[in-house]
Amino acid sequence: MQIIHPLADMTRWSEDVLFRGETIALVPTMGYFHEGHLSLMRLAGRLADHVVVSLFVNSIQFAPGEDLDQYPRDLENDTRLAANEKVDVLFVPSDSEMYENGGATRVRVEGITAVLCGRQRPSHFEGVTTVVAKLFNITKPHFAVFGEKDFQQLAVIRRMTRDLNWNIDIVGHPIVRESDGLAMSSRNAYLSGEERQSACCLYRAIEQARASFAAGVRDAARLQVEVRDTLLANPDVSIDYIALVDQHSLAEREEADAGTVLALAVRVGTTRLIDNGFLADDTEKSN
Ligand code: AMP
Repeated sequence: MQIIHPLADMTRWSEDVLFRGETIALVPTMGYFHEGHLSLMRLAGRLADHVVVSLFVNSIQFAPGEDLDQYPRDLENDTRLAANEKVDVLFVPSDSEMYENGGATRVRVEGITAVLCGRQRPSHFEGVTTVVAKLFNITKPHFAVFGEKDFQQLAVIRRMTRDLNWNIDIVGHPIVRESDGLAMSSRNAYLSGEERQSACCLYRAIEQARASFAAGVRDAARLQVEVRDTLLANPDVSIDYIALVDQHSLAEREEADAGTVLALAVRVGTTRLIDNGFLADDTEKSN
């Protein structure tokens, strides 16, 4: 596995691959790898001849006062973990090269970025789409793999890719969970022992909503109350949002159906965690 820092070297590497008629799958990450990231890398390896993993803590997707400075970093361990996978390049650009003089250009997707996480984090998705657009241009992938854990992010990137006419196949990977159901996340490192216990309530709430849906409950308001009660049974949990949305448009549903996703954002102590799942357990997420 090569580690590449300069943007021009990354592009040259990709152009050589394209010249040979071979394919590239990109896995964008902010590092501090866990099994979720590694699963994305493995899927990328099944999709394309070559895998590029980008590792970049993208400052412009953090608002002032968010956790940019505390965000966990461990390049040495990440390098070791990625090298154990079928990864050709770990692309680690510098902040100064990615955003020369702050970078004057932003890529913004309208509409679906204004709901769910976009309400609490109004500039977040603009930061995400800008960096992903740059990564696409630099690494020239045929495939890009994103986790369904960041369900809204995946929808936003699909929309951007269609709107900007990139011929890149955006591939989602199911949420990878700990044995007790907690979705893996670099931010789980912030949780104290007690908070880690409380954090299981997100998955418990999703499972409970699925059970109610299976028992015939379709009224979104009622499902939301059940979910809220499960979450708030933990004194250190506060709710950012509980939403039942259409998987494509992210529009809120009054009546749930098999294509409805329960999307959750909570704070456990001061740590913000998100999770989501279809109400019908066996529904496949589709493009
Ligand atoms: P991050 O480093 O947190 O920006 O995540 C990089 C990629 O890994 C994103 O596409 C995330 O959606 C994905 N990801 C993070 N956690 C998980 C997980 N538990 N399961 C599946 N994908 C994940």
